[in-house]
Amino acid sequence: AAKISARNVTKAYPTLDGFIVALEDFSLEVAEGEFVCIVGPSGCGKSTFLRMLAGLEEISSGTIEIRPGSDPGKPLNSVVFQEYAIFPWKSVIENVAFGLRMRGIGHRERHETARYWLDRVGLGKFADYYPHQISGGMKQRVSIIRALANDPEVLLMDEPLGALDAQTRVVLQEELLRIWEETRKTVVYITHSLDEAVLLGDRVILMSAQPGRRLATFEIDLPRP
Ligand code: ADP
Ligand code: ADP
Repeated sequence: AAKISARNVTKAYPTLDGFIVALEDFSLEVAEGEFVCIVGPSGCGKSTFLRMLAGLEEISSGTIEIRPGSDPGKPLNSVVFQEYAIFPWKSVIENVAFGLRMRGIGHRERHETARYWLDRVGLGKFADYYPHQISGGMKQRVSIIRALANDPEVLLMDEPLGALDAQTRVVLQEELLRIWEETRKTVVYITHSLDEAVLLGDRVILMSAQPGRRLATFEIDLPRP
């Protein structure tokens, strides 16, 4: 059974004089442990789809299901956005531990889990820094490991490296790949960059839609070594 199944998903946003169709009749199945990238031009509905997967946006028609795991305490999804959504008044380690705290995980386990992820991306020494004291790349690492520390059933990422300079982006792509190879987390990843999609994904979904035209999709399967 698929981990994620989206069937005939359509989203229309109301406007002053009617509505705009942001996504039309889009279907996607993602297997457990698969890393799926969605690539397409700006405005074709990628972010809208991801927000619906995350439960942050209502679906106009169609269905989306994420199959829960055996541990009911684990969150179904965690999301990473392009803008590092981290709290400026919390230290790096408190940011990473935030989701665990919300779930009522005890102090000791929160600390250990946060430490583990900080060390894993080379941020161990920055645990007590505040977001304004670290670089953009480090902030995005914090967002990413905060999502991973939650151990969600699926990880949803919307242009997570889009705001970074080219060099930092390459480093984070490699880190993401390394982490994915070890965790085999189910991932849906949105990007503008076909290069990035091909590097990271098991499967790439190309979306193309101009206003007033039907959504067209095309799939590329990438066998991993
Ligand atoms: P992408 O992520 O591929 O750039 P989006 O999902 O952001 O595309 O947007 C798809 C379409 O829906 C665009 O035409 C966009 O203007 C429109 N749209 C997105 N969010 C809203 C919203 N909250 N209200 C109205 N229209 C929206
Ligand atoms: P608490 O309020 O129990 O400290 P937080 O969720 O605020 O927990 O912090 C997350 C984790 O980060 C905690 O497990 C805590 O041990 C650790 N932590 C918080 N502040 C610091 C700090 N200044 N230095 C080292 N570890 C910290």
